[in-house]
Amino acid sequence: DPRISRIASSIRVIPDFPKPGIVFQDITTLLLDTKAFRDTIDLFVERYKDKNISVVAGVEARGFIFGPPIALAIGAKFVPMRKPNKLPGPVISEEYSLEYGTDIMEMHVGAVEAGERALVIDDLIATGGTLCAAIKLLERVGVHVVECACVIELPELKGRERLGDKPLFVIVNAA
Ligand code: IMP
Repeated sequence: DPRISRIASSIRVIPDFPKPGIVFQDITTLLLDTKAFRDTIDLFVERYKDKNISVVAGVEARGFIFGPPIALAIGAKFVPMRKPNKLPGPVISEEYSLEYGTDIMEMHVGAVEAGERALVIDDLIATGGTLCAAIKLLERVGVHVVECACVIELPELKGRERLGDKPLFVIVNAA
């Protein structure tokens, strides 16, 4: 697809952010390129529009950028998957492991119903721990996660394997 190379080159790579040794993939420059941003959303919408998805679950923070335009275009609701103590209502929580330590992801009780079909979206998959936590939260309340989608995959970190047989769709592979 000719759109992919423009999307890939619109992503800025910043060495040693947020700490030495980390090569950060920065999607804020993709958002500045109106064609690349539009094409990114279109690629996701084309893939998911006829998949009977009723929930787009976006992972804080950059899943909140890509998720809502996809949700609106495919006629699904948007559900934020948030860092702890941000959501005001009753939540269910899932603890997950990071490179150093653990974090918690939360979702509002009642945001989704058992039997719904969800797409989980984030900007990037590294080790896959974040997406796994989102999948677990949704599955705990009986939602079927149809697929996970990210703009960028870091294949060396093998996050795709951590997702097991849950399908993962990405637009750009960052070597
Ligand atoms: P994982 O849980 O190891 O797959 O890490 C993925 C999470 O970390 C996502 O929520 C990403 O937004 C974030 N993340 C990790 N590395 C990067 C990066 O290089 N750019 C942007 N986000 C990143």
